[in-house]
Amino acid sequence: MTLFSFDNSYSRLPDHMFAEVAPTPVRAPELLVLNQELALELGLSENAFHSDELLQVLAGNAIAKGSNPIAQAYAGHQFGNFVPQLGDGRAHLLGEVISTNGERLDIVLKGSGPTPFSRNGDGRAWLGPALREFLVSEAMHAFGVPTTRALAVVATGERVQRETGLPGAIITRVASSHIRVGTFQYFAYRNDQQALQRLTEMAISRHFTSAEGPLDLLQAAVHTQADLIAQWMGLGFIHGVMNTDNCHVGGLTIDYGPCAFMDGFDPAKVFSSIDRHGRYAYQNQPDIAAWNLAQFAGCLLPLIGPEDTAIPLATDIVNSFVPRFHRSWLAVFGRKIGLEDAKQADRALITDLLNLMAAESVDFTQCFHALTTGNAAHLFNDNNRYAEWHERWQGRKPEANIMARANPAVIPRNHRIEEAIQAAVQGDLAPFAALHTALSTPYMEPSDKTLMDAPNEGEEVQATFCGT
Ligand code: AMP
Ligand code: MG
Repeated sequence: MTLFSFDNSYSRLPDHMFAEVAPTPVRAPELLVLNQELALELGLSENAFHSDELLQVLAGNAIAKGSNPIAQAYAGHQFGNFVPQLGDGRAHLLGEVISTNGERLDIVLKGSGPTPFSRNGDGRAWLGPALREFLVSEAMHAFGVPTTRALAVVATGERVQRETGLPGAIITRVASSHIRVGTFQYFAYRNDQQALQRLTEMAISRHFTSAEGPLDLLQAAVHTQADLIAQWMGLGFIHGVMNTDNCHVGGLTIDYGPCAFMDGFDPAKVFSSIDRHGRYAYQNQPDIAAWNLAQFAGCLLPLIGPEDTAIPLATDIVNSFVPRFHRSWLAVFGRKIGLEDAKQADRALITDLLNLMAAESVDFTQCFHALTTGNAAHLFNDNNRYAEWHERWQGRKPEANIMARANPAVIPRNHRIEEAIQAAVQGDLAPFAALHTALSTPYMEPSDKTLMDAPNEGEEVQATFCGT
């Protein structure tokens, strides 16, 4: 049976832009989760869903007809330090398919074995990060945030050695491309203008078809990234590793490692265990995104023109991030308080609320959901200050139906993700499935109301770890 109709444009690029490499087979694969809705969009027929053929392909044990597995080359700034070669060290791009919506989509295995870019890594992933990425990326999609998607998680039947031995897994990721700022950096570092040109054309054709050259591409990337970060902020989302290799040129959320949604609101909140200086704290995300885009602009300079003209042009575009972000942030948070077209004057109304929330560590998601349902007052100890704010807010005539579409009832809270992972390691996928189901309609209250609860003191997850 033909599983997918592949058409692999990336592997038709010059062959120094990637490494041709097959996944390494695993011992005893088992399909743990399949995203059937996404599978159908990819053209997979229903009778393939539980076929051994699909399982073997998603495990990396068989190469599907038309697939031409490659590992992509990329570089990146990790926590501000440039690393000239990273690349897919444990991921294989199986190929691209045109979805039922007409979109060209990458199908990628992650955790599928070593590649020439693995350095000292084993090329594998364990079950925890695979399930975490599945839950969080699919929740992002349900929130309406641009993101990579998750098609499947396969258990490998093998152990991977981390601090301890853990069950191995492979996640299948689907995305409109995997072109990162770091992909451009790889070739810019090597003064490879031809590759930069090809990558520019590919980024345009896959993400911004009306763009006409590198300046347009930069402008489009700056705008979509600003809009993306505003959406993250509106959900209390902290990416955790906003390195340039994890910064998607097409404005998707990519690489769900030590990411998390905040419980109590704290603008300086950091989760990632490796982010010791808070570089990627919640409130720093817009600045970091702009910094990453400045690196992108630097890569494009040779394609734009002679430096004395290219630099001022590119600088202006990178500088447009800030006003675009502010506008987008106001729109996002305006809707969160029920205003369809929030005005400059509403900015203070929003920041005053956020300051009240921060002062008492009020739960971010619960607070906005309670504003929607009309019972936020009980979340605040300082009732007078809240009441004062509430009166000002009511003066702006907020609309509940706008808020209901902007404020999720349920988010993938860290303690619930951890609980789902712990159960899955013991062979029980029920908590994972329940969480996944609730997150597929996140603006509706779930039947299990405890999914809306903030963690108790003992349940709070303080640090999240890279998906290694
Ligand atoms: P990440 O932290 O997932 O963005 O990964 C950063 C870089 O390290 C990428 O080049 C990854 O492919 C590589 N990497 C991470 N974990 C592994 C692993 N277990 N084996 C090989 N490469 C890895
Ligand atoms: Mg990465």
